[in-house]
Amino acid sequence: MKKIEKLKLKETLEKGIKKEFYLKTFLCVFCILLLLLCILYSIFLPKLTLKGSKEITISYNTKYQEEGYQASLYGKDITKKVKVRGNVNTKKVGVYQIFYSIENGILEEKKIRTIRVVDKEKPILELKGKEQVKVCPNKTYKEEGYQAKDDYDGDITSKVKVIEKKDHFLYLVEDSSHNKTVKKRSFTYEDKTAPNLKLKGNDTIYVVENGIYKEEGVEAIDNCDGDITHLVIKEGKVNTQIPGTYEITYKVIDKNGNVASVKRRVVVYKNIASGCIDPGVIYLTFDDGPQIGTTEQILNVLKEENVKATFFVTSKGPDTLLKREYEEGHAIGLHTSSHNYAEVYASIDAYFKDLKAVSDRVKRVTDHESKIIRFPGGSSNTISRRYQIGIMSQLTKEVVNKGYLYYDWNVDSEDAGRCVGKDANCIYTNITSRLSHNKCNMILMHDIKWNTANILRDIIHYGKNNGYHFAKITEGTPMIKQGVNN
Ligand code: ZN
Repeated sequence: MKKIEKLKLKETLEKGIKKEFYLKTFLCVFCILLLLLCILYSIFLPKLTLKGSKEITISYNTKYQEEGYQASLYGKDITKKVKVRGNVNTKKVGVYQIFYSIENGILEEKKIRTIRVVDKEKPILELKGKEQVKVCPNKTYKEEGYQAKDDYDGDITSKVKVIEKKDHFLYLVEDSSHNKTVKKRSFTYEDKTAPNLKLKGNDTIYVVENGIYKEEGVEAIDNCDGDITHLVIKEGKVNTQIPGTYEITYKVIDKNGNVASVKRRVVVYKNIASGCIDPGVIYLTFDDGPQIGTTEQILNVLKEENVKATFFVTSKGPDTLLKREYEEGHAIGLHTSSHNYAEVYASIDAYFKDLKAVSDRVKRVTDHESKIIRFPGGSSNTISRRYQIGIMSQLTKEVVNKGYLYYDWNVDSEDAGRCVGKDANCIYTNITSRLSHNKCNMILMHDIKWNTANILRDIIHYGKNNGYHFAKITEGTPMIKQGVNN
């Protein structure tokens, strides 16, 4: 029995040993095969390497430069067989991948490169107005605006955040790539600007003795306080009973203590209408021009004879001639713009409107305001009756009240009257027979007449040879008046 049991045990042990042996042998063979497979795989799998970094970050709108790759099999270069897929759009921010692959039969090697296109540029934030602003005390700053532009996002003005602080504003803007720009506008609360104080009307006003000085006032506008005309203080008085030069000072102070002042001269002058303070003088006066040709010839003669004259101009003729008259030292008087009796004497307003037109022309061309006038037809004209009864009686007073001096004549050449159609001797005879050493000789002529231009030198010679002297009219020349007939 024991013998049988022993045999069975021995048999079982032998079987177990055999099983173990087979299992180990199998595992060993399997491992060898696996190793063999790995060796074969590494031999037959192509090798692929990327040049440069696998992860690249580049700026938006720059150029992406492929850094290259290399592939080999059995030590042989097969780079040309590498397949590359994917592209990089540098115009658009984002993450891009490029796939590289190389095959050998069923074996394939792959590589990936990641490219990040980013926007690193900060937005540009521009403030309209100044970055350091002076604000009126007790006033708040009124936003002047701003603009934000980003190289990638374009106009992002609407994304600007404004943070208001006591003495400054902060402006913040962020683009889609989180680049931030901050700007500051700071305030100084102060007012150091004086009010703008301006005279209404002329800075010099002429008033005839015993006439009326009409105050035209001033206007005061302050940068902080607005219209403060009501705060203007006026100093100085005009006594029109006493001729002389008066000064009126206007002064205004704004709430912050800034002072502004302006002055006006008021000249009260003696009415020296009928007086002649320079007997034997000859005032050569020419009306109705300027006119090309005649006026030029007259100016040439005056220049050659070194005589100054007076031109009562209209709106006729070229500005260059008017300018020449002034620049060659002659007096420029106003004779109305249109010289149309029906228009000029239609009403007081019509007269002054017409006078202003020619006055503006003279001011524009010569930069000089003329206060010397001659009425069309003279102050004694009767033609104005047709258009307005009594207008000359009113006008002769009104012009003086407005500071004008008007001049008629006491020597008529009749170059525009009886001598028209006759030879130039008609003019010469009229003038030479009417001159006197006992008066201020105011000769009426017209520089639009050829006979006048042609005889002028003879008249000047007559005057020079007979003890007369020549002068132009100035604001100090006594008015030569005729009697008013309307
Ligand atoms: Zn005239």
